[in-house]
Amino acid sequence: MKITIGGWFKLPRMGTAVFSALMKEGVKYDRESGFMLSSDTDIESAVRTIGSALSEPIELSVRCFICLNPSCEGCPYFEACDRRRVSSMCLCREHSGRRDIYDSYQKTFLSILGE
Ligand SMILES: [Zn+2]
Repeated sequence: MKITIGGWFKLPRMGTAVFSALMKEGVKYDRESGFMLSSDTDIESAVRTIGSALSEPIELSVRCFICLNPSCEGCPYFEACDRRRVSSMCLCREHSGRRDIYDSYQKTFLSILGE
């Protein structure tokens, strides 16, 4: 299954052991929206827990810091990138090639700080 870091996803009903493992690993849970891997999550462990609970491989993707779209598609570093370890925010193809990107990055960053 595919999971986007910073995006909600649903899981089928799992035992309480799995659920409490996920909570311990810092996975966010909401009754309406489901689960979310965030910057507070021990992503490597959470992915292992989910993968073995579902017995299927987990494909992680990250979102663009600027536009929040999934940024892995078409990324030249996709194969080499260990998404369990990199920052949970990346830059999509459209935003990574632009010269004014540092400005946008800074603006986004400052607006988050100002919240
Ligand atoms: Zn983008």
